[in-house]
Amino acid sequence: MEAFVTTGLVLKETRYKESDRILTILTPELGVISAAAQSSLRLKSKLFSACGLFCYSEFTLVPGRNMYTVREAEVKNVFHGISSSIEGMSLAMYMAEMAMTLSPTGQEAQRELRLLLNCFYMISESKTDLRVIKAVFELRTMSECGFMPQIVCCRDCSAYDGAAFYLDVQEGHLLCADCAAKAGKTCNLDQGALYALRHICLVDDKKIFAFKISVGSLEKLSAVAERYALTHMDKPLKSYDFLKTLLP
Ligand SMILES: [Zn+2]
Repeated sequence: MEAFVTTGLVLKETRYKESDRILTILTPELGVISAAAQSSLRLKSKLFSACGLFCYSEFTLVPGRNMYTVREAEVKNVFHGISSSIEGMSLAMYMAEMAMTLSPTGQEAQRELRLLLNCFYMISESKTDLRVIKAVFELRTMSECGFMPQIVCCRDCSAYDGAAFYLDVQEGHLLCADCAAKAGKTCNLDQGALYALRHICLVDDKKIFAFKISVGSLEKLSAVAERYALTHMDKPLKSYDFLKTLLP
């Protein structure tokens, strides 16, 4: 089989034997793939740094029966700052697990890769509240992977604006305060949280972090974003419980 070159972000590394690793890589064309990186844990190996967890690298891959083999790898970007805090590391693991669980393909894989690179950069820079990065990732990843909520207006009366709204995390629709009361639901978004929700789901990906949010609205947004994302996963995420001990 012919070798080929692709960029990719290492979402998981599993050691086997003494110095080999099996990598789970998100690539723009093939989606999530597995690749064996033999001897990559030897310090002298040319693959050592480019195959590390959360490395964005250019890989030369050879197709095999069960998985690819990494023949060469060159680092494009290392997010050094991620490992400088346990909270940042734990959030990156959670995002990586969510991306692997959704396993997007085609155009969705390309957009998911851009989103992850963007979020990993923000974690690494440690200038943004991790709860903002988490909510942005959860909502945008669901939108990119085909689960965009209906967030333009109230499902029942088309109201666009108001002090409070209810997002149904199961069905993904909005109700204004009046329609929520009629349906026996308690509003879970305030104006600031709804503004941020619309921004995150709809704006051009380069501007995704260009919004401000108050502490109170962020609390509401965080709760809704997390429940919305986890409701749509087909299994519980292993990284979730630990993350919640750090970012309650
Ligand atoms: Zn309404």
